[in-house]
Amino acid sequence: MLTEPSLSADLRASRWPAGKQSAVALAFDVDGPTGDAMLDGSLLSNPRYFTQGAYGPWKALPRLLDLLGAYDLKATFFIPTWVVLHWGERCERIVREGHEVAYHGHRHEVFIDLSRQQQLDIMERSRAIFQERLGVTPIGFRTPSGDWSEETAHILRAFGVLYSSSMRGDDRPYFHPSATPEHGLVEIPGRWDIDDYTALAYTEEPDFPIGLDRISDYRTVEQNWCAEFEGYHREGLCWTTILHPKVCAKPGRLSILDGLFQAIAAHGDAVWAARCGDIARWWIDQHSPGDRHGRSA
Ligand SMILES: [Zn+2]
Repeated sequence: MLTEPSLSADLRASRWPAGKQSAVALAFDVDGPTGDAMLDGSLLSNPRYFTQGAYGPWKALPRLLDLLGAYDLKATFFIPTWVVLHWGERCERIVREGHEVAYHGHRHEVFIDLSRQQQLDIMERSRAIFQERLGVTPIGFRTPSGDWSEETAHILRAFGVLYSSSMRGDDRPYFHPSATPEHGLVEIPGRWDIDDYTALAYTEEPDFPIGLDRISDYRTVEQNWCAEFEGYHREGLCWTTILHPKVCAKPGRLSILDGLFQAIAAHGDAVWAARCGDIARWWIDQHSPGDRHGRSA
């Protein structure tokens, strides 16, 4: 039978606030119709694909917010600012209900393909839109499409970003080694293998999953996600999700999230369910960037 690993009392006591055993950062990417097809212009000739993306902020997001509210869970929403411009009222509700909004490009650009100046331009534009439309200056960033270039961490720090949730180097937060020692950038790593796309996406334009004409059984997906959460909780770690309202917050699929939220709630105060920004601030407060206990092992 699985048991809690034998961590020293000191390490366990200092890991999460108020004696919590583990942390959960529920995080959702509200990509809408942004992404590759918008960037290459093909979206203009494919209104069906556009509406599939638009369904996210327009119909799925309110349903997801209702469910989060029912469990009194606060989450983080990474939003390309093109979505904020076109569904501003939907995004206002995210902020009004106490959730966090954070950077995710403007049109879901692939940061590793961009010059330093192009990244700066996107960050400036995004910051202005978040400030003007939502009255928020984000402190978090998730790289769209998975990767970033050498200078990205420094650019993020220049914009006052405290954390990224883009990489996979640990099961709990750590400081990026590329950030300057005096201004650490915290990474709150997610897991792309349990991204909802891997189990639940089904699109024809583009084909996904490539070569597979199926989606996964909903109860199996719920069991997988709950097993991951329980594993992170058992070992006192931090579980961060990469979920997309347009994929996981459809009417029937909401039962998957409902099962997951029930599993989190069942642990009561032993779980610190928090926004990524709260976890980053707490981590920074606890660890200096040069402190080995704060780094990825
Ligand atoms: Zn995204």
